[in-house]
Amino acid sequence: MCDDIKFSVLCSLFDWIQRSKSSAQKRSKVRKFLDHFCKPGDYFGAIRLILPALDRERGSYGLKESVLATCLIDALGISRDSQDAVRLINWRKGGPKTGSNVGNFSLVAAEVLQSRQGMTTGGLMIRELNELLDRLASCENRAAKTSVLADLIRKTNAQEMKWILMIILKDLKLGVSEKSIFHEFHPDAEDLFNVTCDLKLVCEKLRDRSQRHKRQDIEVGKAIRPQLAMRVGNVAAARKKLHGKEVVVECKFDGDRIQIHKNGADIHFFSRNFLDHTEYGHAMSDIIIENVLVDRCILDGEMLVWDTSTKRFAEFGSNQEIAKAAREGLDDHRQLCYVAFDILYVKDTSVIHQSLKERQELLRKVVKPSKGRLEILVPDGGLNTYGSYGEPWWSLLAHSADDVERFFKGTIENRDEGIVIKDLGSRWEPGDRSSKWLKLKPEYIHTGSDLDVLIIGGYYGSGRRGGEVTQFLLGLAEKPAPNTYPRRFISFCRVGTGLSDEELDELVTKLKPHFREYEYPKKAAPSFYQVTNNSKERPDVWIESPEKSIILSITSDIRTIRSEVFSAPYSLRFPRIDRVRYDKPWHNCLDVQSFMELVYSSNGT
Ligand code: ATP
Repeated sequence: MCDDIKFSVLCSLFDWIQRSKSSAQKRSKVRKFLDHFCKPGDYFGAIRLILPALDRERGSYGLKESVLATCLIDALGISRDSQDAVRLINWRKGGPKTGSNVGNFSLVAAEVLQSRQGMTTGGLMIRELNELLDRLASCENRAAKTSVLADLIRKTNAQEMKWILMIILKDLKLGVSEKSIFHEFHPDAEDLFNVTCDLKLVCEKLRDRSQRHKRQDIEVGKAIRPQLAMRVGNVAAARKKLHGKEVVVECKFDGDRIQIHKNGADIHFFSRNFLDHTEYGHAMSDIIIENVLVDRCILDGEMLVWDTSTKRFAEFGSNQEIAKAAREGLDDHRQLCYVAFDILYVKDTSVIHQSLKERQELLRKVVKPSKGRLEILVPDGGLNTYGSYGEPWWSLLAHSADDVERFFKGTIENRDEGIVIKDLGSRWEPGDRSSKWLKLKPEYIHTGSDLDVLIIGGYYGSGRRGGEVTQFLLGLAEKPAPNTYPRRFISFCRVGTGLSDEELDELVTKLKPHFREYEYPKKAAPSFYQVTNNSKERPDVWIESPEKSIILSITSDIRTIRSEVFSAPYSLRFPRIDRVRYDKPWHNCLDVQSFMELVYSSNGT
């Protein structure tokens, strides 16, 4: 039985797979292991260790690298400021004595464990390991986790412990896909997993590996692997892929992908990782019971937070906080809102085989929208109540590439994450990422030239450079009327790298006479600068007026991010100063409109 073999055997398999170059070799090792070491009826014990990210049988360990580091330090009984402890804590950064393993926690940990555990195997069995991991997942506090880790350390050697840490972190880095592992186990394993998200059930149902399994359909109450979107670089690429097809373009919402399974009053909220987010129940269950007009049903969509005061969806990341506030009865101007963009099951029937167009019709019939709480994403209905240009659009039947471009441009202006383009004739496929759904995001700008932007403020450095301006707040010009100079500048990004010490000194010396510190409450920006209220962008000094300032060239191949911190709709991720443009007059600064054109055209054409 798999359970009754030594974990060291599985570790040898992992080592072989990792060493094998070709995917065929890797796959054959998996197959040999399953053929020779496992017996029908008991694959789960080993397979859950080979595919730890798919195992939902035990809860979460609550152990990411940083907590694991402190637990291991305590489990080994080493002082927190010893060299080895610092290596574990700084696993990502490295230090004077770190080798090539820096950045990979389990390898750094194996180095530390090596001198303490040695290479003699502790003889741990797979069954025992699973029991210990169950204990680890059920521990309530860090001390209890530390004690289980100490137990594991006693029963293993450094190599085995390295793999256990990888299992706990749910990533074995074997270089073999989960698809291949499923395939070597059983030809129907992947399909069955995709419609049940239940590894134990897959191992049990397919215990006879020579027997084919009848294709199983989706069920209410069992999470289904979500259909995903393929990334495209621009509208032209999307057009090529969906040429001749009837398509709908939708806003790509930035929330939590959630499948709602309704079975009478029993409601589940399954995430992309097949976890049931029961915390959404308090705020959402009654709305689902009331507004979903059939007893049994599966909806696919995005859980978001709707801000009733701004009438916008809130920035990603506040879902849990709002769910908690709802549970505690706290009143907030923000509330959970579920946007259903698909329907997978109605009454007693799976509808994933029907076309998207037909499913959208069903969605219209089955779900009664409730403003800001439960919305449906279908063209000409539900959220698509916004007609005029410049206001948010959520869903559109696109008749041409121009329609898609217009829609994409609208989402950029609205600072949305991007768009999803869907083939209306396609069925919903569990776990699929082929071109039925395409996603397009305004992420990169490849301008071919640098962006010339104006310094509008400065930030003091710390340490060696304390008290000196070392970083700058940059602004884009508001497009001036023809033959006039710009009058307002819109905050755009903060930059501090790229210049040598000498170049920085020269620039700061030139600007210094024009730095103005505005004391509270006057830290407000001078009237010719437009900034948000976000305190993160408040510089320590402002440039007293734009004509006293200097233009910086920022490197051109930069990732754009939607900006909540700066006033311009998009900012730059990891900007770098290329050079100081003493030669360029202040009024030749890039304007917002031209910048948005760059963002748009690098994606949209
Ligand atoms: P990344 O953020 O790395 O681009 P992703 O996490 O957004 O990837 P993808 O498969 O690329 O995942 O995109 C699909 C995801 O987009 C879905 O899981 C869903 O959460 C989200 N999404 C937002 N709006 C929609 C929509 N209208 N239709 C389908 N998916 C949507």
